Amino acid sequence: MSVNPTGGGAGLLLRSGEASSTQIGYVNENQQKCHGTFGVFGTDHNQYAYRLECLQCGYVYGANGSDIAARRCPQCQGGVDGIQYWLPDISPKAFKLTDK
Ligand SMILES: [Zn+2]
Repeated sequence: MSVNPTGGGAGLLLRSGEASSTQIGYVNENQQKCHGTFGVFGTDHNQYAYRLECLQCGYVYGANGSDIAARRCPQCQGGVDGIQYWLPDISPKAFKLTDK
């Protein structure tokens, strides 16, 4: 599966990346689940920003694709703060869809 239909509420689609750790549904050893990417660039070189969800506390945040495999939750595991994973021009709407 390469497209997550439940992520398209604002007309956006979340897509899997190429690496195994950037696939939609991937869960790393810290229980951080990958939701895919909107195609927004991350803060690391040649990396997309992916949406991750902590399966322990439900926190949703962004991370570079290269960081997913070892990512820790910013809220309950002491990980670094998340990065922007949504497009700047639709940020209010996108944030409302994912923020709890
Ligand atoms: Zn957490």
